[in-house]
Amino acid sequence: MEYISVFDMLKIGVGPSSSHTLGPWRAAEIFLKELRSQNLFDKTEKVTIELYGSLSLTGKGHATDLAVMLGLSGADPEYVPVENIESIIQTIRDNNKLMLGGAKPIVFSVEKDIVFHKTFLPYHANGLIFKAHTSDKTEYTSTFYSVGGGFVVKEGEESSSEAKDMKSVPYAVNTAEELLKSALSENKKISEIVTENEKVFRSEEQISKELLRIWNTMLECIYIGCHTEGILPGGLNVRRRAFDMYQNLKGDVPYNNPQEWITSIRKTEVKFRQILKWVSCFALSVNEVNASLGRVVTAPTNGSAGVIPAVLMYYMVIENHQAGNKEAEQFLKVAGVIGSIFKRGATISAAMGGCQAEIGVSSAMAAGALCELMGGTPEQVTAAAEIAMEHHLGLTCDPIGGLVQIPCIERNTMGAIKAINAAELALETDAKNVKVPLDKVIETMWQTAQDMNHKYKETSEGGLAVAVNIADC
Ligand code: SF4
Repeated sequence: MEYISVFDMLKIGVGPSSSHTLGPWRAAEIFLKELRSQNLFDKTEKVTIELYGSLSLTGKGHATDLAVMLGLSGADPEYVPVENIESIIQTIRDNNKLMLGGAKPIVFSVEKDIVFHKTFLPYHANGLIFKAHTSDKTEYTSTFYSVGGGFVVKEGEESSSEAKDMKSVPYAVNTAEELLKSALSENKKISEIVTENEKVFRSEEQISKELLRIWNTMLECIYIGCHTEGILPGGLNVRRRAFDMYQNLKGDVPYNNPQEWITSIRKTEVKFRQILKWVSCFALSVNEVNASLGRVVTAPTNGSAGVIPAVLMYYMVIENHQAGNKEAEQFLKVAGVIGSIFKRGATISAAMGGCQAEIGVSSAMAAGALCELMGGTPEQVTAAAEIAMEHHLGLTCDPIGGLVQIPCIERNTMGAIKAINAAELALETDAKNVKVPLDKVIETMWQTAQDMNHKYKETSEGGLAVAVNIADC
């Protein structure tokens, strides 16, 4: 069984979608590597990409076409300056040429060389095929599936080539039951179990450094979202709301950067009824940055990227003014391991399970993490995750116009608020009297995913996506 690291669950990338943007981008990068390892790179004269199923149906709105071009151009989603993305794409369009791997110019027509098929490939709803045509008239083909949260598998392989074996870590965490058993028998917190497992792959210092990089990316994302006004791209004319909301909430303590900003918010008098507004403002800000192809952390997906940062910010600026990097690391460890159990037991792909797999899972991750920071026992942590998911079961995915905007952006506020409520309820729960264990709700979520009509699985063929006329937006 594969070990899924916290760093697999929380990835730095570019919006708007982990399965439709980050995954296809990574697939293009793997395809490039294959061309090099097969000694085909220098001979490649043309590349075509075929998008299937959900990648085709909502691919334009989710920027799948841009993602594959960026991946083939050698841009790394973690590091490419987001302000350069538009010009890279425009250059390809204007010149009908793509700089393969950033090194070799090939003829490329955006209109003809990316083909959108409405049919589905058999293994997963998000399929894509890359074909390289070489100077000696051979054709090299690779098929990939973007299975949610930026994870990619190649046809015929069950997991990525970089997969880690669960046997290599001290504590198996395939299920919530296993995780709990380890925590209770070792008398450790869930975050401590995660640390022991992650130490197999990197030093403790490295773990801290990487988690802080993730937290700082989240914080910067919230900061940018709260300080940026205007209309989101894509044609729905969705106005950014985090800016206005923040203007109404902010105090008068000056700041110059995200860290000082945290202190400034702490000094602002937060009235009880404003707490919901602050949390919503944080969640909206992240998803507005995501919708504008900004830099976000996939947590566990891009569409749901606002829930975890919003709940962590809530803890820092409302619950515990002394909290700092140590608490942020602890929070991300718990969130990551809970997400990994959902990925293994059900799915984090909306194309497989609807929005319960995105907002539902992110809410469960955030609820468990917040519960531990608020002093919850391991049983209460898993109970918090269970409560959060229990009240997202059956949530469908129906993005209007195929864009990750309506209902996605607002839905993150709901996921964050439910997570806080779930953590509070779990703290009041007698651990010995939990009626629905976390593993049971994960099983139910998967069953619900299988019963869900395909229209509600990231196709934009049902729900709000057909009820609302885009022209009226
Ligand atoms: S409706 Fe939910 S699952 Fe679907 S794209 Fe939006 S956030 Fe993702």
